[in-house]
Amino acid sequence: MANYGLNIWGNNNFIIENGKVCVNKGIKPALYDIVEEIREDGIRGPILLRFPHLIKKQIDLIYNSFRKAKVEFHYEGSFNAVYPLKVNQYPGFVKNLVEVGKPYGYGLEAGSKAELLLAMSYNNDGAPITVNGFKDKEMINIGFIAAEMGHNITLTIEGLNELESIIETVNERFKPKPNIGLRIRLHSSGIGIWAKSGGINSKFGLTSTELIKAINMLKEANLLDSFTMIHFHIGSQITDINPLKKALREAGNIYAELRKMGAKNLRAINLGGGLAIEYSQYKNTPSRNYTLAEYANDVVFLLKTIANQKQEIEPDIFIESGRYIAASHAVLVAPVLELFSQEYTEGKLQLKKENPPLITELYELFKAIKPSNALEYLHDSIDHMESLLTLFDLGYIDLQDRSNTEVLVNLIIKKAVGMLGDKHYTEIMDIQERVQERYLVNFSMFQSLPDYWGIDQSFPVMPLDRLDEPPTRSASLWDITCDSDGEIGFSPENPLFLHDVDVAERNYFLGFFLVGAYQEVLGMKHNLFTHPTEAVIRIEDGEERGYKIEGLLESQCIQDILEDLDYDVREIQDNLYDRIENSNLIDDRQRKHILGEIYLFLNDNGYLKTIGKENE
Ligand SMILES: *Cc1c(COP(=O)(O)O)cnc(C)c1O
Repeated sequence: MANYGLNIWGNNNFIIENGKVCVNKGIKPALYDIVEEIREDGIRGPILLRFPHLIKKQIDLIYNSFRKAKVEFHYEGSFNAVYPLKVNQYPGFVKNLVEVGKPYGYGLEAGSKAELLLAMSYNNDGAPITVNGFKDKEMINIGFIAAEMGHNITLTIEGLNELESIIETVNERFKPKPNIGLRIRLHSSGIGIWAKSGGINSKFGLTSTELIKAINMLKEANLLDSFTMIHFHIGSQITDINPLKKALREAGNIYAELRKMGAKNLRAINLGGGLAIEYSQYKNTPSRNYTLAEYANDVVFLLKTIANQKQEIEPDIFIESGRYIAASHAVLVAPVLELFSQEYTEGKLQLKKENPPLITELYELFKAIKPSNALEYLHDSIDHMESLLTLFDLGYIDLQDRSNTEVLVNLIIKKAVGMLGDKHYTEIMDIQERVQERYLVNFSMFQSLPDYWGIDQSFPVMPLDRLDEPPTRSASLWDITCDSDGEIGFSPENPLFLHDVDVAERNYFLGFFLVGAYQEVLGMKHNLFTHPTEAVIRIEDGEERGYKIEGLLESQCIQDILEDLDYDVREIQDNLYDRIENSNLIDDRQRKHILGEIYLFLNDNGYLKTIGKENE
């Protein structure tokens, strides 16, 4: 796994050059160097890097794939896309996305009042806005304001009561009206953990009976002309294309039937999101069984076939894929703070003049191990270790002997793993699982990879440099929260190997990739760790240095976190200052010094900085 599966999940976005992960664009800067440059200003802790060119790449891919599919099948409907804001609402992402999407008329999707106002403020002129989710009268009113401002907006209703509110609102507002969409409830079910997004038991959408009722209500209110779109969304990260095809057949027929009932302005089918991302680092566990080209072809072909069969016009296609657009643009970089068993170096060995015979034998195994005997010696050393640990329990050897045992066995394993490479894979994995090294990493999993904790979503992870050296340690990753769930354990099915590192000598950074979708806003402030420091990295061919670091936003300081929890930060400050002032354990000079320190701590973020090179 020398390239950490980059060929599986990487999409040519990154390449390895001179042992470093480099951005595959322009002068191909190394992530390691970008991070060191940001850290020159004293920034420590995790850093989230955003790459606008990767947003553009995904948007280009979607529009180009559908353009090709339309040409191939002589499709007459138009293709449109909107970005669902819930996937990532951070300005460092959204503003870049809107700019990149402008030439395509790429729009925005909103699912709440806050998102709707965001969309109304940033959406490109003329690009569509779609609104999903539950809406009260006030939210509907905001939708009308969007139309009055000139936005091309469609309010998709989730239930008949929302339609009643719209009908009421029409009479209260001015002339421009939003378009109306109906979310349909499919009998073909949603999939996976998001099954409740689609399907007959779905949280959302109108049944056939309700659809008929809705059409009648619209007719009565003279609003049938405003009904332009039907919508469904079968779930996120659709790894198998078949449920989507089933949903399309169902939706295509509903579209045709509703048009036959007189909905002549119904022109669009909105497929929602769901395009999957390949997160897997391992060939044996791919997460997706289709390509974007296949997805586009299936959609266009199926909708064309149904429209032709039912002799209706070919519908305009809308998609709302978010994960596919956002995931790859962000990379979280987190420094390793410490290895828990750094003591296992040859220098730590303290052999006595007279050692127990088994330890002498272990030492000889360590000296004599070579590729032809590596597996045998490995087994022998594990046997010896077990015997020696028993001897310790029985009181026959002392703590120094036990320490020598640990060090020697670890050294032998390290040597053996290097020598055996990919041969004897299963056996090595068994041993690795027992001797895995724990890497303490300066980030919070709850804040930066909440889906790992919440839904077992794994993300590709790799060191940013030393990729020309074989990694020899089976690794489990520990975050700095005080929660035992903050761990990515070593798993023999998805083994992660990292290098032996001494962070006092040189920084070792881990990159977590594909974290741009959902992870940021779902991030939790567990232990009061906040959103990491972020920076936008713009790679431009014209740039003298090849790239620009823009929009550097430091992680929130402790005082602000406390304020977010509605603490009175003045009170906290006063309490701290009073207690320092009144402490009779220190003199005036010390008091002044301590007050200065407290001030700095309150105004800095809470990530760690005091171990190894992180100290400097
Ligand atoms: C969440 C959601 C999306 C985005 O789904 P992705 O899997 O991120 O593409 C699109 N439409 C609706 C209605 C949603 O709820």
